[in-house]
Amino acid sequence: MAKKAETAKSTGVMRKVDQLGRVVIPKELRTMLDIEDNKDLLEIYVDGDKIILKKFTTGCSFCGKEGVLSKFKDKFICSECIKEIKDTVMF
Ligand SMILES: [Zn+2]
Repeated sequence: MAKKAETAKSTGVMRKVDQLGRVVIPKELRTMLDIEDNKDLLEIYVDGDKIILKKFTTGCSFCGKEGVLSKFKDKFICSECIKEIKDTVMF
């Protein structure tokens, strides 16, 4: 995404890491970010001394866009890329 770098906001929430390394993500945050319990995957990133959790979503294989995607031969593709391919491919 070509957006300006977003600055991280503190939620003011602190959680202890348990003996197995688990941290509970507050319910309000899961709701806010549309993270479904027992279903969604979180991708773990490291940025210096920060751990970033991002909801894992499969984007279009060509442009990376998320949203409504079609599946073609194990790849996800958005409608705009389908249209572009149709317009580009010559027979
Ligand atoms: Zn696309």
